[in-house]
Amino acid sequence: MSKQIRAVSLISGGLDSMLATKAIMEQGVHVEGINFFTGFCVEGHTHAIRKKDKDKPKRNNSLWVAETLGIKLHIIDIIEEYKDVLINPKHGYGANMNPCLDCKVFMVKKAKQWMEENDFDFIITGEVMGQRPMSQRRETMPIISAESGADDRLVRPLCGQSLPATLPEREGWIKREELFDFSGRGRKPQMALAEQYGIDEYSQPAGGCCFLTDESYSTKLVDLWKARGTKDYELDDVMLLKVGRHIRPRANFKVIVAREDGEARFMEGYKKNYINMNCSSHRGPLALIDGDASAEDLYLAAQIVARYGQGRDADKVEVAVRDMAGNESTLEVKPLAKDELEKEWFV
Ligand code: SF4
Repeated sequence: MSKQIRAVSLISGGLDSMLATKAIMEQGVHVEGINFFTGFCVEGHTHAIRKKDKDKPKRNNSLWVAETLGIKLHIIDIIEEYKDVLINPKHGYGANMNPCLDCKVFMVKKAKQWMEENDFDFIITGEVMGQRPMSQRRETMPIISAESGADDRLVRPLCGQSLPATLPEREGWIKREELFDFSGRGRKPQMALAEQYGIDEYSQPAGGCCFLTDESYSTKLVDLWKARGTKDYELDDVMLLKVGRHIRPRANFKVIVAREDGEARFMEGYKKNYINMNCSSHRGPLALIDGDASAEDLYLAAQIVARYGQGRDADKVEVAVRDMAGNESTLEVKPLAKDELEKEWFV
């Protein structure tokens, strides 16, 4: 009996990796998925927090893809190891803080390690030539194969016909004529293939699979590094950059003000890690203080927080300030006037 060929597929949760996986499954190969969690992923809880995202599915799309395809998914936490990719990308950043090429190399390298440890035969990605300006170009395809060490065990089913034959093709494990030659940023061929496979629901194409492609997120990340004097970060930092208004009136601290109830509820979970405050004499949002704030800084922070509450036009409002142990004190402040909130404070 011939050996069952097994492939591991990088599942982002988007349509391309879903189709690439399906294309190889259709050839009789046993496929399992891997999803790498960097902390910067767009989906999941963030869609549950913001009111503007209320129509987006509140689910982990990679798990949903795996379930739709009927394959096993391995979600692997790479938060710590990923720091070096983000902080020191050999190939640099894209339009924002997205180190896409290094990121792809790293993920394929991790997948290769997993493939060897689990006795699988090759790796699948949903890359399409010319689709992403930084990581999915004709010149970058061989860089990813070579630098990850996956070499000709890396198969890109959606554009495989335009690339040199891989080991699985040469060995006859998969048929080259059943791969595709998609290219460019258009989505029509993918949509047609999805229809052919009977897949009628998939996550909408976006600018990228993580927050690092987002300009405003990237600005906040750079501000955090600059303020701390180091490029290190923790998962909590990564999460909090996704929510609230970030206001840095002085270099040593910033105020994160919830923009809506969903964000306030999410930020409640951080009350033990940050000094926090909210207006107690009027309705107003929760705010976290990040950094080393003096008493004078906390007074200014309270004036800012009061500005975002219903007492913004009052002469005096009370702001409840809690330390990380939960000890509460009250500051009586005059809310900052609109023109006192300086534009450059907004990160
Ligand atoms: S968008 Fe983010 S996760 Fe996707 S390749 Fe770029 S850096 Fe990596």
